[in-house]
Amino acid sequence: MPEHPENNEEYKGLVVNKGIEQPSSVNPYLKQRKVKKRELSVSDFVEGILKGSITILSRAVTLVESVKPEHQAVAQEVIEKCLPSSGKSVRVGISGVPGAGKSTSIDVFGLHVLERGGKLAVLAIDPSSERSKGSILGDKTRMEKLSVHPGSFIRPSPSAGSLGGVARKTRETIILCEAAGFDKIFVETVGVGQSETAVHSMVDFFLLIQLAGTGDELQGIKRGIMEMADGIVINKADGSNVDKAKLAATQFRNALHLFPAPDSGWTPQVLTYSGFYNIGVKAIWDMIDKYIDFVKANGYFEYRRNEQSKYWMYESINEKLKDNFYTNEKIKALLQEKERLVLNDGLTSFVAAKELLDTYFEELKCRLT
Ligand code: GDP
Repeated sequence: MPEHPENNEEYKGLVVNKGIEQPSSVNPYLKQRKVKKRELSVSDFVEGILKGSITILSRAVTLVESVKPEHQAVAQEVIEKCLPSSGKSVRVGISGVPGAGKSTSIDVFGLHVLERGGKLAVLAIDPSSERSKGSILGDKTRMEKLSVHPGSFIRPSPSAGSLGGVARKTRETIILCEAAGFDKIFVETVGVGQSETAVHSMVDFFLLIQLAGTGDELQGIKRGIMEMADGIVINKADGSNVDKAKLAATQFRNALHLFPAPDSGWTPQVLTYSGFYNIGVKAIWDMIDKYIDFVKANGYFEYRRNEQSKYWMYESINEKLKDNFYTNEKIKALLQEKERLVLNDGLTSFVAAKELLDTYFEELKCRLT
């Protein structure tokens, strides 16, 4: 039997087996990928975006969506530098309830738009993505043909934070996409209410996708959403559904007459189409084209963009202030107690709010002096 090594006096307790020689790299491409992922400077980002690099654009959007302050700092600088090269696109908001046919339509509609040249970015604002931890919009798998087109860039909804926060990030992403040469931007959202207002505040044309149903089509959509629409399109006008779709279109046209005339001077159009069978899709883009010419001629295009910039300035202030208040340690500690007092009738809502705000302002003053 061979002697156990520990019985040898020279044994040091540690044996290093020689092992086999390792290859320099298992996958030589890994090295290349690592190099690619190096940190980019602000000017690397800006240069890459202006050259139209999709890889760099995607990485910049990831920074925009990040909650890390150091990422935000870089993102804001990149956005600022891209701003002069932005603004030269047609921005279209597309909304509809789940199942209305948004992804089917955007796939076909997007290809139609790309046939005429240029580049198309599809972004999304999905208020449910925070809860579902996934996005039901702007997903590449939902737009099979468009996603493999070299002229397209599809990005799902940012998922962190409040609707206001998500919307701000999408608006910033629009700027980056435009600087990267995307001259058509679609912003998709689910037709459930608030998110439409956010999308409306960042697009030139708001398209509402509807379905023909049981005759009471107008029920269920809020008047406010209809008032926002520059165009209403009734999808699935195919097969035995064509007549129903036409009837729904008439009902929508009649309903639109009851609303006050929009500030743009444009009369919202109602069209029927079939995304699935690609019928009537061309007419939708023609309508948008006509609208853009119309509002550019009467000055409303410029006016709406300016109003939107103003709106986003105030939105950003509001968001930052709110965030600062609620993440304040002292406030965080006090909130529950005040809430309990309000619920037990120990304090009125107004007094509780005032006391919390006073504490917050006092804190700020102490920090400044
Ligand atoms: P989204 O949830 O709004 O994105 O809707 P989808 O695009 O996923 O479409 C929902 C369902 O409606 C799918 O089964 C589609 O195939 C179907 N669909 C979409 N467009 C049409 C259409 O023009 N005609 C018909 N018949 N079905 C359609």
